[in-house]
Order: sequence, then structure tokens, then C-alpha cells
Amino acid sequence: MIIGLTGGIASGKSTVSQLLKNKGFTVIDADIASRAVVMPGQPVLEQIVQLFGNEMLFQDGTLNRKKLGEVIFGDEFKRKQLNEIIHPAVRTWMLSEKDKAIAAGCRTIIFDIPLLFESKLAWMAERTLLIYVTPEIQLERLMNRNGYTEKEAMDRIESQMPINEKKKLADDMIDNSGTIDKTKEQLDHWLAQLRLSP
Ligand code: ADP
Repeated sequence: MIIGLTGGIASGKSTVSQLLKNKGFTVIDADIASRAVVMPGQPVLEQIVQLFGNEMLFQDGTLNRKKLGEVIFGDEFKRKQLNEIIHPAVRTWMLSEKDKAIAAGCRTIIFDIPLLFESKLAWMAERTLLIYVTPEIQLERLMNRNGYTEKEAMDRIESQMPINEKKKLADDMIDNSGTIDKTKEQLDHWLAQLRLSP
């Protein structure tokens, strides 16, 4: 079974992803994929340089993500151009990792994708699992984790699809507003219900 794991920012997706890894599940992480596809020698990096210039690279030829982030910040057209290069490569990377995992005998594969619904990637999985918390807890945990002011945290939360919208799209959900133990209980229940094993 292929699972798409997602959540709003600071809702606990990474925490649940780690719990699953601890249980031996194979997790294929979109953030890792997006770093892998821009490594030196990858066609995506060459395309980025063609579009945005050599100044996007550090001396050693690796991508200066901060600089690239600054260039696309507030420029919808450039952001779209960049996504059109990166997104297909990320999907290809993740699907190839999935094929490898299946060939190695894995029965359950978890795609960990922060913007699963925003990027319309639910088709990649057979079922989607949403990790959610209340808006108050989301704000508090995001401020604590990243040291953001309330405004900085709110801006980031509001740039995403509202959790209530994500709830309508998800097949399964875990409420991570309580303790980690409560979350573990729900996770075990979900795994048992779907009879999922690594
Ligand atoms: P995401 O990956 O969705 O952005 P994280 O897993 O990083 O979210 O969780 C956000 C923050 O909240 C982290 O600092 C994490 O340690 C903390 N956290 C996650 N789940 C809980 C919980 N059930 N109780 C208390 N803190 C939690």
C-alpha cells in the first residue's frame, strides 16, 4: 500500500514520519527529494542556472537555496517557472525510490509530502493520511519550534491550504493536538485497521 502522509506546517507530520520510520516503515521524503534533484550534475541544477544565472551557485557548484529563495520571493512568475522545473524531477525521484523499495520487498511505502494537497499530488498514493492539530496549537508549536513571532507564524500558516480543507480531502486523519502518546495510540490503531506492515 502506498500512503501519502501530509499535514499543515508544525502539525506533527515529521513527528509521525519519525514514528513510522522507528517501526521500520519506508518513508520517502519530498524534502529530501527536492534536495537530491538539485545536486551538482543533475539536469535540474543546470536548468536553474540557465534560467536564473550563475550567481545562484556557490563557489563549489552547489545551489545557493537562500539566494534562489530571495529571487523568487514575491515573484509569482519566477516561482512558477522554478516549480515547473523542480516538481516533475521530485516526482520522478520519489517514484523511482518507491520502485526500488517495492523491488526490495517493502509492503507499505509512505510518501512524506508537506504540500500533498496544494500540489495536487494525492494521485501518487493509494490512501492519504493527514496529521492535524487545532489552529491555536499549530500557531503555538510553530512559534516555539522556529522562534517566529506570531505574525511570522501566521503568515506561514495562511500561505497554506486551511486544515479544514485538507480534512475534506484526506482519507485518514490523526489528531496530534494531544500528547505524543495519544498520537502513537491513533497511529497504532490506524496501522492495525489497514493491516499495514513495513
Ligand atoms: P511538521 O513536520 O508537521 O511541520 P513537527 O513534527 O516538526 O511538524 O512538529 C512541530 C513541533 O511540535 C515540533 O517542535 C515538535 O517537536 C512538536 N510536537 C509535535 N507533536 C507534538 C505533540 N503531540 N506534543 C507536543 N509537541 C509536539
